[in-house]
Amino acid sequence: MTPDVTIIGAGLAGLTLARVLHVHGIPATVYEAEASPMARAQGGMLDIHDYNGRLALRAAGLTDEFRSLVLEGRQATRILDRDGTVLFEEADDGTGGRPEVQRGELRRILLDSLPAGTVRWGHKVSGVRPVGGGRHEVAFADGTVVVTSLLVGADGAWSRIRPLLSDAVPEYTGRSFVETYLFDSDTRHPAASKAVGGGSLFALAPGKGIQAHRERGDTLHTYVALTEPRDWFAAIDFTDATAAAARISREFDGWAPELTALITDSDTPLVPRPLYALPIGHRWDRVPGVTLLGDAAHLAAPNGEGANLAMYDGAELGRALAAHPGDTEAALAEYEQAMFPRGAEAAAEGAQLHELLFGADTPHGLLDVFTEDEQTP
Ligand SMILES: Cc1cc2nc3c(=O)[nH]c(=O)nc-3n(C[C@H](O)[C@H](O)[C@H](O)COP(=O)(O)OP(=O)(O)OC[C@H]3O[C@@H](n4cnc5c(N)ncnc54)[C@H](O)[C@@H]3O)c2cc1C
Repeated sequence: MTPDVTIIGAGLAGLTLARVLHVHGIPATVYEAEASPMARAQGGMLDIHDYNGRLALRAAGLTDEFRSLVLEGRQATRILDRDGTVLFEEADDGTGGRPEVQRGELRRILLDSLPAGTVRWGHKVSGVRPVGGGRHEVAFADGTVVVTSLLVGADGAWSRIRPLLSDAVPEYTGRSFVETYLFDSDTRHPAASKAVGGGSLFALAPGKGIQAHRERGDTLHTYVALTEPRDWFAAIDFTDATAAAARISREFDGWAPELTALITDSDTPLVPRPLYALPIGHRWDRVPGVTLLGDAAHLAAPNGEGANLAMYDGAELGRALAAHPGDTEAALAEYEQAMFPRGAEAAAEGAQLHELLFGADTPHGLLDVFTEDEQTP
């Protein structure tokens, strides 16, 4: 028999694991720090890849639900020069293999697919210790405690479970994103709306860039990338929305106004998102009764794979546990053996992608990738 599984974190990794276990009749409980599913905006669009995220959703039996979320036309791509000249443009012809969905909606179908009570909201892990025989005592901030048979850390970048397995700590990558939103853009921000087009926009220069997505409705969601130390961002008062927008847009002096409008016309205060990563190739020796999934295991600078890998890890661990009903350790070993190189490969490719986007040769390297793709039959 597979013991009850205790999962820490109701992100995409933990919820996919819980769902795949449920499909196989294995009970799981998910402990989540946030007070409710609505506690935090889940923002952002994710392109879900046919080689990992979609396989996970199929293992979860949620392919139809996923399809109903796909935002048509959002795989279109534009690359603009700083002066607004269009350097590359590709329409969404429906063959891209990377359909786009809203993260919050994806999380919702996973939550809705679990038996009531599976997720225990408002349970923030404050400490964890081994108590022998592969069991662990998990303490929560509200003073409650559980003892686990199988403990899975799906608690993201700053995992409280990771120290049971490794001493690794995420390090600042040297780059941050600053997040903005423009709502009702077709009517309220038409020039920016036109610049972004139907899907994604990239406007890049060495060390910096403006990346925007058209989300559900005509919301424009932008990540402004800047390669600056944490102190540089700390010196900006982000509680003063106007001053912060002025300071960030100064880094784009001389850029086309329809591009800088994505910063200065934000309908929400700018939010800095410092980017951290674990060492590429992060791994550990097998420790009985505990493992990690998703960002907890292989946090990398955003590269379009993190959420996909998180779901895939969840599905793969669920599959391995179902395949080894009497032998949890065999399941964990099998899962980790495949997960370590998978995470390392994605992180290494992600580092290359950041070099392509923000390195000295940008935007030409990115343009080459897109034009080569177009020429490939
Ligand atoms: C700016 C940005 C843009 C991104 N864009 C993309 C993209 O376009 N495509 C893509 O595939 N990926 C993207 N990613 C990466 C992606 O968001 C992550 O890789 C993915 O969310 C990881 O999922 P997870 O379930 O492992 O962790 P998380 O989503 O971080 O979930 C962890 C959960 O654990 C909970 N938790 C944390 N600590 C505790 C605790 N002590 N006790 C209990 N619960 C706890 C958290 O509240 C959270 O619900 C992006 C990341 C960033 C920062």
